[in-house]
Amino acid sequence: MLSEEHEALRQTVREFAREVVAPVIGDYYERHAFPYDVIRQMGKLGLFGLPFSSEYGGEDGDYFALGLALEELARVDSSVAITLEAAVSLGAMPIYRFGTEEQKRRWLPKLLTGEALAGFGLTEPGTGSDAGGTRTRAVLDGDEWVINGSKAFITNSGTDITALVTVTAVTGEKPDGSKEISSIIVPSGTPGFTVAPGYSKVGWCASDTHELTFDNCRVPAENLLCQRGRGFAQFLSILAEGRIAIAALSTGLAQGCVDESIRYAKERHAFGQPIADFQAVSFMIADMELRAHTARLAWYDAAERMLAGQDFKRYAAIAKLHSSNAAMDNARAATQVHGGYGFMNEFPVGRFYRDAKILEIGEGTSEIQRMVIARDLGL
Ligand SMILES: Cc1cc2nc3c(=O)[nH]c(=O)nc-3n(C[C@H](O)[C@H](O)[C@H](O)COP(=O)(O)OP(=O)(O)OC[C@H]3O[C@@H](n4cnc5c(N)ncnc54)[C@H](O)[C@@H]3O)c2cc1C
Repeated sequence: MLSEEHEALRQTVREFAREVVAPVIGDYYERHAFPYDVIRQMGKLGLFGLPFSSEYGGEDGDYFALGLALEELARVDSSVAITLEAAVSLGAMPIYRFGTEEQKRRWLPKLLTGEALAGFGLTEPGTGSDAGGTRTRAVLDGDEWVINGSKAFITNSGTDITALVTVTAVTGEKPDGSKEISSIIVPSGTPGFTVAPGYSKVGWCASDTHELTFDNCRVPAENLLCQRGRGFAQFLSILAEGRIAIAALSTGLAQGCVDESIRYAKERHAFGQPIADFQAVSFMIADMELRAHTARLAWYDAAERMLAGQDFKRYAAIAKLHSSNAAMDNARAATQVHGGYGFMNEFPVGRFYRDAKILEIGEGTSEIQRMVIARDLGL
């Protein structure tokens, strides 16, 4: 059972998604345009500040609240949902968790109101799952870091309101010979920091994703996030939480497929009756609801463990793996229920189909989730 506060938040975001996002997002998606106006309104609603303290401009909510908002947004559209997810769990959270007081005071107030966005750059053109394979280097030269290298697929890194990107970089060698990886904040517009034009993507077409290059890019030494050499560990802990957020988002997509399929199956007639009356169709929708419901139980469970201070890694990986499968299966089934119209962009399920696949890849592929679960089982 959700608390009254959580239920009220869920209703507010549900209405916002239906009334503000749904009517306009298809057009942004078709044009591969970033929906600044919708993002601004999400900021006004307080969504970017949900799991943060009001001391820095947040809403004093929790990670569960963030998950509920992501689920309700993704039920209608995943581009705005991933913009929020990446802004909060990859953009602002590392600074909130690991930043100095000065870094927090400087960056968080604008990030938590959605006036500004931040990205997190871990993935590189040559390495993603193998995050320790980072090749980007940062060398301390006097009181500045000099960064050289590139990052691939970085969300929220090139919008007009992007304030910074935090990047992981090799800053030396540990005594055991392994790479010392640190996280460094690079403000947008820093000379030597170039943002490539947006990718041409299969889905999430109204979200912002770029390749970034750093060519003798200099930032002050105090832009180091937390201790030198802690970048890799920091990122892994951020990713573990992020899996719960992606699971909530995936659940939303899976549920959106159910919503659209019920509506369509009751309206569409074939052989003189609504297609909902064919058991083959209603069973397809029943299976979709089964997957959406169990996906929700999985992310609620992981979030509750996290908020109770328990070790939640295995459960976050289970939630991410299960819900992204559910989203993918439901998107395929919902398209089937819609017949030829399911293949048309004017119907939301066309977008759901294109947006579902990345959920099995981003923030840790399904194979990586299985590795996390297996390791936690002692295998
Ligand atoms: C739209 C979009 C937005 C993104 N946003 C961000 C962002 O904001 N910040 C960021 O840092 N990254 C971001 N990413 C990158 C994303 O997290 C990576 O694409 C993902 O982690 C997979 O890495 P990869 O693409 O390098 O694939 P690879 O790691 O090359 O994997 C290729 C295949 O090999 C498999 N594989 C790899 N290693 C193993 C193994 N040990 N065992 C079994 N199978 C294995 C993988 O599961 C996969 O099937 C984004 C990606 C996309 C597409």
